[in-house]
Amino acid sequence: MKKILSLVLALCMVFAVCSLVGCGKDEVDESGNSASQTESTASTDSKVEVTTVNNGKLTMGTNAYFAPYEYYDGEKIVGIDAEIAEAIAKKLGLTLEIKDMQFDSIITAVEAGDVDVGIAGMTVTDERKEQVDFSISYANGVQSIIVKEDSAIKIADDLFADGANYKVGVQLGTTGDIYCEDDLGKERVTEYANGNEAVVALLGGDIDCVVIDNEPAKSFVANNQGLKILETAYADEDYAIAIKKGNTQLRDAIDDAIKALTSDGTIDAILKKYIK
Ligand code: GLN
Repeated sequence: MKKILSLVLALCMVFAVCSLVGCGKDEVDESGNSASQTESTASTDSKVEVTTVNNGKLTMGTNAYFAPYEYYDGEKIVGIDAEIAEAIAKKLGLTLEIKDMQFDSIITAVEAGDVDVGIAGMTVTDERKEQVDFSISYANGVQSIIVKEDSAIKIADDLFADGANYKVGVQLGTTGDIYCEDDLGKERVTEYANGNEAVVALLGGDIDCVVIDNEPAKSFVANNQGLKILETAYADEDYAIAIKKGNTQLRDAIDDAIKALTSDGTIDAILKKYIK
């Protein structure tokens, strides 16, 4: 009797498993159908399926006064970010288009879908993560302090000393701006549209120092006499690409591209070309 029972049970299980496999087959058919549907909506020559604001293009928002990451060479925007973006676009089968705008408009442009990505030596911060998604990081940044060569400010801590009232210039909406306003108070911080304007104000004596990312800082100091960068930095940070929240397809494709361009040495070669 027991043997018959277990035989019946075993048969039941085989039947159950068979019907499950049967279900599986139906699903395979269905997904086969949906795969061909997606194929028909996939963009032209793109190997990776991504949705972008302009079909076939990767539209990038940047602020092109941030050498060596982005700056004008004649009419053309060149630099580390421009070249990395070009390499990413190529991997995605897209044509790169760059839109120049104020740094503090880039995140809004990404959120509004005016551009696909913000690539602008942009630091990953928790606050920005609430507005946009970020790719994996592709470079490191440092907030540096530029002063006049004969400045009384010798180290970063001099800014925080008791009774110190040094005026600081920053680029509007950057991490330098955010940190300085938090640490020193709004009244000691003047916001400029770009780093160049802040440096002009420093040279003219309106402010005592400029807090800005270290690579642009180096190029400002190289191009203007009588300035130097303090040896002590203000902060260390990671640069990444801002992408509209929820566009995970594009974010994943960009992450994969960054990984591939890191392991084949492309990103390193671009960084070395511009940062000696
Ligand atoms: N790294 C800084 C930031 O993200 C400045 C970037 C920039 O000015 N382009 O705020």
